[in-house]
Amino acid sequence: MTATDAQRGPVTTEPTPPTSPVASELLAAPVAGTFSRSRALRPTGKVLPEHARTHNRALVLQTLYSAGPQSRADVARETGLTRVTISDLVAALIAEGLVIELGQREDARPGKPATLIDVDRGAFHIIGVDLSEHEVFRGAVVGLDGQIIERDEIARDAATGEAAVLLVDRLVERLLARTSTPVLGIGIGSPGVVDPLGVVRSAPNLGWSDVALQERLAERFALPVHVANDANVGVLAEHGSSHHDDLLLIKIGHGVGAGLIIGGRPVVGGGFAAGEIGHVVVGTDGGPRCACGKAGCLETWLAVPRLTARLAAAGAQGEAAASARDDILREAGRRLGIVLAPVVGALNLSEVVLSGPAELLDGPLHEATVDTLRKRTMAEFNRDLRLRMSEQAEDIVLRGAAVMVLSGQLGVS
Ligand SMILES: [Zn+2]
Repeated sequence: MTATDAQRGPVTTEPTPPTSPVASELLAAPVAGTFSRSRALRPTGKVLPEHARTHNRALVLQTLYSAGPQSRADVARETGLTRVTISDLVAALIAEGLVIELGQREDARPGKPATLIDVDRGAFHIIGVDLSEHEVFRGAVVGLDGQIIERDEIARDAATGEAAVLLVDRLVERLLARTSTPVLGIGIGSPGVVDPLGVVRSAPNLGWSDVALQERLAERFALPVHVANDANVGVLAEHGSSHHDDLLLIKIGHGVGAGLIIGGRPVVGGGFAAGEIGHVVVGTDGGPRCACGKAGCLETWLAVPRLTARLAAAGAQGEAAASARDDILREAGRRLGIVLAPVVGALNLSEVVLSGPAELLDGPLHEATVDTLRKRTMAEFNRDLRLRMSEQAEDIVLRGAAVMVLSGQLGVS
């Protein structure tokens, strides 16, 4: 989501010609025995004027958002749009309160000094909510630059079903009461499988199936609402601080999930369950029994409650206990590496990020994962692979939720 259409250059209202011989071949009428339905590799339809305007508006906002204060001429140069188009778009954005004029640039260039413009970074706040923790629902008022302005949380008390929905309701209500700045939207990271309309198809821990969370909250608060899976939300936050457009985030907490961005675009999967690696069985040697009924799922090796219970059983003191604890963490890391190797190999990923308690993940577990990945992938193809700890700490879902709203509402990230 971070690389939105806005980053791909201006759109004109001219019809886009087929972009490659392959695309035009695919557009040709199907021949008996071939694919019955042709599919263009890239959009080849006419771009409607109103869509071009939306696209170019996002392009201007993205340029200002990433680069900061600059002149209209700078924006024109950067985006490839004409000065006239920029003036027109900027005037509309100023009228909407999204862009402000900051005064004139002090420089030595001859002629009239240029007026600097920027996204009005104080104009809006975003509400971010993280439902992925077992004990509490956490939320924050987030600024347009991703800074956390206010925090709040609500104890879950094992609430499920409708009671859990009402808790989300109350948390959002409390957060909205903490800001007097207009709110751009509400972003929510939920555990489980969430479809693109923000319906939580299945979140067993919360007892939710087919809960239309996005629609309910949008009606209740009369604001734009975006709901997505917590790991898919988290990877958006991580992408902001990464230099890579191919990125896998492994989120380890009560369960284990993953968020994936390929070529700058989030991957959600055909059944909206991309990244659900927690219940992939690791290896053929069995393993601990999992809540899902299988034995040896990745979650049974790696989820925080499982790891902490195993570490506690190993004892707290003495050399033998320390070595047993290292072995437990190393085995968990090895299992993670086994699951990740084919994913890394198939996608030629450049970056894998671990998010979760650093005291568990950042040490023998991390080392064993790297070691296993190296042994199991082709070094010459995956030499640049980096496995690192997240820099977002426990705010990863809150920040990602804000990125999701920015992207969804303004085409900016
Ligand atoms: Zn399982």
